[in-house]
Amino acid sequence: MRAFNFSPGPAALPEAVLEQARAEMLDYQGRGLSVMEMSHRSAEFMAIAETAEADLRALLDIGDDHHVLFLHGGASMQFAAVPMNLCAAGDVVDYIHTGSWGTKAIAEARRLANVHIAASSEAENFTRVPSPTEWRLTAGAAYCHITANETIGGVQFHDFPATGAPLVADMSSDLLSRPLDMGRFGLVYAGAQKNLGPAGLGVVVVRKDLVGRARTQTPRVLDYAIQAEHGSMFNTPPTFPWYIAGLVFRWAREQGGVLAMQRAVERKAAKLYTAIDESDFYHSPVRIADRSLMNVPFTLAEPRLDGAFLAGAEARRILNIRGHRSVGGMRASLYNAVSEKAVDALVAYMGDFEAERG
Ligand code: PMP
Repeated sequence: MRAFNFSPGPAALPEAVLEQARAEMLDYQGRGLSVMEMSHRSAEFMAIAETAEADLRALLDIGDDHHVLFLHGGASMQFAAVPMNLCAAGDVVDYIHTGSWGTKAIAEARRLANVHIAASSEAENFTRVPSPTEWRLTAGAAYCHITANETIGGVQFHDFPATGAPLVADMSSDLLSRPLDMGRFGLVYAGAQKNLGPAGLGVVVVRKDLVGRARTQTPRVLDYAIQAEHGSMFNTPPTFPWYIAGLVFRWAREQGGVLAMQRAVERKAAKLYTAIDESDFYHSPVRIADRSLMNVPFTLAEPRLDGAFLAGAEARRILNIRGHRSVGGMRASLYNAVSEKAVDALVAYMGDFEAERG
């Protein structure tokens, strides 16, 4: 039996995708070899790559004015690639600081640009998204960066304000969980290993007019213009994660696309937050309006019971709900591949644990 996997990432993948990958593992469509064993320039892989891109474009309604790139290096590489490609040394770039992934993005950008923190919820321990009326954006900034969903803190942007400068969003943990108006974004990036596929792949969606201005010392593998020109194959791309991501995109389309994903995650999150809010034993630290639908951190009234809670969960095959080591407590991640049944199992367990030990 498959476990109920609430991992923050690498995270659960749709069972149908794993089944298909298993069926095709040794012999991809009668070719007598695995996708892992074929050239990225083969007709078979080129078709896989093109279909994956077309499906992602269809899912997110990405038009011809944006490039879609499939790159190595996960999201952290984009923390550096974004300033290298979108601004000159010394240019001012605005960052909205809502949690620990933002902290990392800011630290990397500081090595490469003049970072201005236009808004921050650090003083409130990152429990909310500062409202756009509080943002102090810089006129003439090269871009404005947000972390759309803070995977550790469980704080999510539910609206994207218009910014003068191109809006850049780290959507590592919420891409494909909802429809997006791509026209609002200059660039969106994500590590694949939460909602898109296995680790080893990063996806970048970037407006074409922002590409082609990388500073001269930018390594060529990080230069969006060069990668776009080569169809993300300037060097050997992460072929197997790209293939699996393609299967995930196809699966998401078959489920009804991102609107269906959004409805499902809203249902799952509502069940879990209701269980938390209706109890005095469990607590969510995040302001209700800014709570993440993807990552739900919560604490127990008695932190000394954390170990027993985790052990009891594991006995019911409820896995990976320990909070990040930097914040403690619990966290359940509700990505697209996490079923409502898994959430029901977690909520039932929480009720039983509270009744016994609370
Ligand atoms: N941004 C966010 C929001 C994340 O959740 C993560 C990974 N947990 C990262 C960036 C870093 O991703 P990677 O490990 O792919 O570099």
